[in-house]
Amino acid sequence: MAIAAKVQACIEGASWIRRMFEEGGRLRQQFGDENVYDFTLGNPNIDPPAKFYAELQGLANAPKPGIHRYMSNAGYDETRGAIASMLAGVSGMAVTASQVVMTCGASGALNVVLKTILNPGEEVIILTPHFVEYKFYIDNHGGVPREVWTDRETFQLDIPAIEAAITDKTRALIINTPNNPTGVIYPAESLRQLGEMIERKERELERQIYVISDEPYARISYDGHAVPNIFPYVTNSIVVTSHSKDLALPGERIGYLAANPSMTHVELFMEGAIFCNRTLGFVNAPALMQRLVAKLQHESVDINAYQQKRDILYDNLTRLGFTMVKPDGAFYLFPKSPLADDVAFVRAAQKHNLLLVPGAGFGAPGYFRVAYCVDMGMIERSLPAWRALAVETGICGAS
Ligand code: PLP
Repeated sequence: MAIAAKVQACIEGASWIRRMFEEGGRLRQQFGDENVYDFTLGNPNIDPPAKFYAELQGLANAPKPGIHRYMSNAGYDETRGAIASMLAGVSGMAVTASQVVMTCGASGALNVVLKTILNPGEEVIILTPHFVEYKFYIDNHGGVPREVWTDRETFQLDIPAIEAAITDKTRALIINTPNNPTGVIYPAESLRQLGEMIERKERELERQIYVISDEPYARISYDGHAVPNIFPYVTNSIVVTSHSKDLALPGERIGYLAANPSMTHVELFMEGAIFCNRTLGFVNAPALMQRLVAKLQHESVDINAYQQKRDILYDNLTRLGFTMVKPDGAFYLFPKSPLADDVAFVRAAQKHNLLLVPGAGFGAPGYFRVAYCVDMGMIERSLPAWRALAVETGICGAS
């Protein structure tokens, strides 16, 4: 065998999102770009805010000596300080630069955190439906993922179910709000109840259990919905996030992790995280991007544009008979599959040149995901295909 058996097995079970994306390439060649409706990827179609380009130009026109050199593995003090003061504002807690490490995206941050805290065989609870990569990241660091369903009607936290899954091997719980793929936001009261339960289990089991809050969509919420920060509610909590979605910079790989200033042994955790950022081979987050995002902590892409896309798809799909939770944030819909077999449904959609991801890809068969970070024109052109699909699968009459 030329490569590790585990990696070969992962490649063979290639992710649904990738598979559908490749299928899209084939359909585009056959039918032309205009006639294929690709809702598979969470890759923002809009460009970063104007202030990003202004700052970038400023840097390029007046480069300071040394701006491309190695730096402290945690990142620039200036950037960490800007993030800490933004986090202090949203959490009401005394977050300082020493609790922030700049990383290569939220993915980098998740890997750094998991490597920092996991001993071999320790368990990490993830909430279904879940972001596809969590299981791989947990496995990267010798951990064991434990899946717990969110409430099947609302996709909100099912705290008794999480409590029942906690064992003397549990090291962490990953939550994601606003959520990919469901778009739900966990309200402050849920986070408060979660914190109470986790702290009770920590006392009972005499071990530190971390809540890792994965929040790359924190600035993408609709209808004035707040996205509460985890810090006031869970003592041993860590925020992992990035500017992949809020500033539309996924290709630039810029994100960070931030520890709750009241965390037990917070200094040791930070030392560990800085060491892991280095030894995982990230070394430090991209230098130019750190300089730029330091100035953009109160900016975001045009959220109204995403809200309009949510509204047009949600309204049209529900009118056609699809059922789903109305998302309050992120840029995904997660409707119930009209066919019991979500993979068969996604195959049926493909015949109408509609590319979707089956719920199975998120550990949640019986649903499908629609990523609406796409052009409005494509959404509008896709509506007849949605109608034809609804008629074909029997949820809507032909008239
Ligand atoms: N977490 C969630 C829930 C995501 O949806 C994504 C990307 O789609 C990530 C993490 C990774 O983001 P990044 O590009 O910052 O690594």
